Amino acid sequence: MEDAVSRLESVKSNISKAEVAARAAGTVTLVAVSKTFDADAIRPVIGAGQRVFGENRVQEAQGKWPALRAEFPDIELHLIGPLQSNKAKEAVALFDVIETVDREKIAAEIAKEIARQEKAPRLYVQVNTGLEEQKAGIDPREAVAFVARCRDVHGLAIEGLMCIPPFDENPGPHFALLEKIAREAGVEKLSMGMSGDYETAIRFGATSVRVGSAIFGTR
Ligand SMILES: *Cc1c(COP(=O)(O)O)cnc(C)c1O
Repeated sequence: MEDAVSRLESVKSNISKAEVAARAAGTVTLVAVSKTFDADAIRPVIGAGQRVFGENRVQEAQGKWPALRAEFPDIELHLIGPLQSNKAKEAVALFDVIETVDREKIAAEIAKEIARQEKAPRLYVQVNTGLEEQKAGIDPREAVAFVARCRDVHGLAIEGLMCIPPFDENPGPHFALLEKIAREAGVEKLSMGMSGDYETAIRFGATSVRVGSAIFGTR
């Protein structure tokens, strides 16, 4: 039976192979998505050298990461799930990267908390490339202007864009659209690709991939 550490090694080796085709070696960041898994399941993966993790709920992350961080101070934690404005304070306090900035109100709340806490997580704008009603993220047609407003109105530096393609569609066109928007908006980082399509995402220019079940197992 394969465990999380050997699955982590396979994912890393697949990432290296995809990098060879697409870009310089070692330039894609693996965000290990640990949502629903507890500290005991996460610790061996940290032990194997993984330092960048993603969580999709603020409250769940608050329950397990402060203690793990006390053990491993060089952890980098990404928020990859939708952010409610009443959780902005906790999110700014806990996360190193917030990948899900997607509307004016959240941008304003994050800006307020950054000023108050004197702590500035790196920020990505989530783009709803499939225009799915149930999915978070800004309309792709408004994304360039939104990135500019984050900067000009709220004083927020947006480092990258993030997307989750519709699960029943070929992801390639969605990755290509995100890459095009990033170029137009002048942002460098692209968070795209999950367990089923991270190698494809790297070919389309992903600078980070968010991989959960291919490492931790089915949820
Ligand atoms: C859960 C999740 C992932 C990881 O999904 P897997 O298919 O398990 O790799 C990636 N991104 C987001 C936003 C998620 O919520």
